[in-house]
Amino acid sequence: MADLLLPPVCIACRARIGGHGLLCGACFAKIDFIAPPLCARLGVPLPYDTGEPHLSAAAMASPPVYDRARAMARYSETMRDLIQSFKYRDRQEGLALFSRWLAKAGAELLADADLIVPVPLYRARLWWRRFNQSAMLAQGVSRLTGVPADCFVLARVKRTASQVGLTAEQRRRNVAGAFKIAPGRAADVRGKAIVVVDDVITTGATAEACARVLKRAKAARVDMLALARAIEPAAFVL
Ligand SMILES: [Zn+2]
Repeated sequence: MADLLLPPVCIACRARIGGHGLLCGACFAKIDFIAPPLCARLGVPLPYDTGEPHLSAAAMASPPVYDRARAMARYSETMRDLIQSFKYRDRQEGLALFSRWLAKAGAELLADADLIVPVPLYRARLWWRRFNQSAMLAQGVSRLTGVPADCFVLARVKRTASQVGLTAEQRRRNVAGAFKIAPGRAADVRGKAIVVVDDVITTGATAEACARVLKRAKAARVDMLALARAIEPAAFVL
């Protein structure tokens, strides 16, 4: 509440603006929003529209474990700063805006979803950061869409090293076995269309690890939804 008494500032650069929890025009212009045509599986932009659902070369070469992924923007420097400030500096003022962005980017996935599940943090880290940003995003999207969020059905059982600076292969090994269905909760996953929410998809190693666990528990569908996605130039080659 105290925040609302202060003059509104841009959630990225702190410049004075007209309303709370928003970006200034300059920061907004720096965000590279992902727009159709998209790869039906990976959600990465494709160079042209053939008028039918199609796949990127990356999705065909190595199909992901999850069914579909969607992200709001390319993981640029601006998005990295925004997400880092949300994650590490307890700056929750962006939550409402981020939730709206996720609901929009994930509209197709959320339309007939049964459950929204955040990528869980390891408990010690959760305590250290005081909150799980993915859980907050999942609850924000749930409020906007009416799709229930369950922040406890998926658990992180392995303390993983930070993924920053690791190669794709190192990231895969790092998160292998890191997630499990919480004890006694398998029935809540079976047959369900699930949307897993995370802040960023980089190599997709975490997304794959979560999807693998949920699919093994017989989830009918597992889609990934993130604020930002790292997009490799190779994804553009059809
Ligand atoms: Zn700004």
